[in-house]
Amino acid sequence: MTQMIINGKQVDAVNKATLDVWSPTDGTVFTTIPRGQEADVDLAVTAARQALNGAWGKLTAMDRGRLLTRLSESILEHKEELAQLESKDTGKPLSTSRVDITVLARYFEFYGGAADKVHGETIPFQTDYAVQVIREPLGVTAHIIPWNYPAQMFGRSVAPALAMGNASVVKPAEDACLSIVRVAELALEVGFPPGALNVVTGLGEEAGASLSKHHDINFVTFTGSNEVGVLIQQAAALNAVKCVLELGGKSAHIVFNDANFKLAIPAIVKGIVHNTGQTCTAGSRLLVQEDIYSDFVSELALEFSKVRAGTPEMDLTCGPVVNKAQFDRVNRYIKKGLADGLKVVAEGSIADGVPKGGYFVKPTLFSSPNHDSDLLTQEIFGPVLVALPFKDEADAIRLSNATDYGLLGAVWTENGGRQQRVARGMKCGQVYINGFGAGGGVELPFGGVKKSGHGREKGFVALEEMSTTKTIVQYYGE
Ligand code: NAP
Ligand code: MG
Repeated sequence: MTQMIINGKQVDAVNKATLDVWSPTDGTVFTTIPRGQEADVDLAVTAARQALNGAWGKLTAMDRGRLLTRLSESILEHKEELAQLESKDTGKPLSTSRVDITVLARYFEFYGGAADKVHGETIPFQTDYAVQVIREPLGVTAHIIPWNYPAQMFGRSVAPALAMGNASVVKPAEDACLSIVRVAELALEVGFPPGALNVVTGLGEEAGASLSKHHDINFVTFTGSNEVGVLIQQAAALNAVKCVLELGGKSAHIVFNDANFKLAIPAIVKGIVHNTGQTCTAGSRLLVQEDIYSDFVSELALEFSKVRAGTPEMDLTCGPVVNKAQFDRVNRYIKKGLADGLKVVAEGSIADGVPKGGYFVKPTLFSSPNHDSDLLTQEIFGPVLVALPFKDEADAIRLSNATDYGLLGAVWTENGGRQQRVARGMKCGQVYINGFGAGGGVELPFGGVKKSGHGREKGFVALEEMSTTKTIVQYYGE
């Protein structure tokens, strides 16, 4: 049985309520977590506020950075334990979890090093005036984390917040919170003062909603569905606090007739099946120039049909999807694709011997003559890729922008001018040229446009998002 971390202590919910935790691999209950609610959130926010006014708030930037660096080292020392926990909780193949834990450590390493590198500025002003612009923490930051990359998203969201001297309250997804709780325990072991980092487990509608609308938070960051993103922004508006939203995508690959097939094909397959397609940055639409369409899709189909789904221990390309709702959702979209007249050109397989109750779905590659199906505009969040042909550069850019989302894009061509024109024409937050980096790149500013959300994470820009400026104007004349 897992406990929450509030004010430096492992605790149960105030009212002792718990939730069962289900394994996506075999559908059985294997542990419980506290069902934190309003009272627990209130304790966590109060602890964070006290930390800001106490030991945590008094640390120098250098000492904060050192604590983050120590946590990064401790995460790596516990890498196998954390990876096993992540796989048990989410069903991820073990190698995927090991990579996720390494990236989590990298977030704390990167932001640990950055903590004392955020400098202010001075501004030339009127005679006998000195003007300084200094950076200050926002205060208590709230972080609502999804289940698809619990460890990585925790690092992405919380490491820059702590580096800037905020005190954080985290609400992980009820479906995947075990690695996050464990990392918060490690943070206490390496010396984070009580209250600097609090984790409240529970349901989105209870703990998540209470946190996002708590009157004493100063910032909220959320990654997840558009429906909940809207609720978070409304709650933030009522409190007049800033929010950063990362709401998923429908990212497109554009493959021109001069593309390097050998480079493109494995990257495109990986970009949709990695993490069983449960990735906001998944490359889920494949636009291929019409004169190579048939050749390219046939070669891709060969690679795609090698994809296999199995248990974490089998360590294949895919695991199960995270829960029954997600299982039903992906299968519903596959049925919808067939009903819309899309053609299945390749399928992956589910390994023999997977447990009966597991949420395994068949990776599917569709071909579509046009961009009309819901499968091309809605986020499926599963290993389902739809290919369709385009005529020329203008057509490719138009189709790539033909969704409400705008998170990532990729262009595959050897033509340098075209690389730049297309990259600049795609309406999204990151574009890859002859590569695809779904999920990677702690150093690279990341976030969406349009319905993919707003605000930026990763890189140095996250330190700006998680802090504010204060302008100090001093008259020094007589
Ligand atoms: P979700 O409900 O948006 O969950 C994301 C996070 O928000 C979880 O921690 C969730 O907690 C919490 N939450 C839920 N309702 C809340 C509320 N009223 N107030 C505050 N927090 C709340 O996403 P989902 O239902 O798990 O997944 C549905 C779809 O969302 C997926 O199929 C996918 O399309 C999209 N999604 C996108 C991402 C992404 O990386 N952009 C990640 C996950 C899901 P609980 O889970 O404990 O309820
Ligand atoms: Mg949910």
